[in-house]
Amino acid sequence: MKKILITFLLFSTSLSLSFAATSSCDKQGTWLQVLGSGGPEINDGRASSGYLIWHNGHARVLVDLGSGSLARFEQSKALINDLDVILLTHLHADHANDLPALIKSSFFTRRDRDLPLYGPTGNHVMPSTTVFVDKLFGDKGAFRYLSDFLDGTRPYRLLPFNVDILLKDISTLINNNRYQISAIPVDHGPIPAIAWRVDIEGQSVVFSGDMSNKKAVLSRLAKQADILVAHHAINEVANRVARNLHMPPSEIGQIAAKADVKRLVLSHRMKRTLGKEQQALSIIQKQYKGQVDFANDLQCFELKNNK
Ligand SMILES: [Zn+2]
Repeated sequence: MKKILITFLLFSTSLSLSFAATSSCDKQGTWLQVLGSGGPEINDGRASSGYLIWHNGHARVLVDLGSGSLARFEQSKALINDLDVILLTHLHADHANDLPALIKSSFFTRRDRDLPLYGPTGNHVMPSTTVFVDKLFGDKGAFRYLSDFLDGTRPYRLLPFNVDILLKDISTLINNNRYQISAIPVDHGPIPAIAWRVDIEGQSVVFSGDMSNKKAVLSRLAKQADILVAHHAINEVANRVARNLHMPPSEIGQIAAKADVKRLVLSHRMKRTLGKEQQALSIIQKQYKGQVDFANDLQCFELKNNK
């Protein structure tokens, strides 16, 4: 309880940009770093959704890249050359907006190995991830001057892949000697959306992305994860429209408890939830007894000893 209280006091104070600017993860071990802890709003002092997974001093996995996350990526001292994969939870602007800037920036690096990018299939509302990339960088895309990042004429290619949102079970997309990356489709109103799990040398972190809990699958994906990053975009009193897109604190607490995760990190914080952390915390703690943190930009969480 004492630990929770201290964490809460430290991180619920006003949008600590100065704190954010000095944060960095340790060179040893596996770490989650929050690039953007905000939602789509501006004037909240937060970048939109973005996360890195660091392993022994290298940023290997990038999850989402919303507005402002690329500036945080720079502040984190991550290198584009080190990235093994990009995972997108969905294609809302506050989760994918900085992708073109990242690709352009890579022109000035020595990256020479392909960069896979995974995201959801499309529907009548949103394009699939492969179509999204084509509409950005393809021959007829808005940024077609960057099309050589797709066609093999540059030292590396951006390689987009779709994850079928009709799948009911967890699917493993990558399984190599470094890590296993798994996904399950989640409900985000009409928007195709994926929750991600990264297991790396016995440690694990799960990203809910934006979701309601209508499909009730996140607790399966998050089973005994070291860290569950849950998007805390609404309060308990949110209306039906907001609940169609996001989960209230009671559902987050329920999922964290059912999955028996070691630590819960609340991100995608929005003006309607900022300043109401104590309320959310007490609702979550009715069900979940582990450590709860409210994320800030550039904050690092180690993926071990999270008891
Ligand atoms: Zn969204």
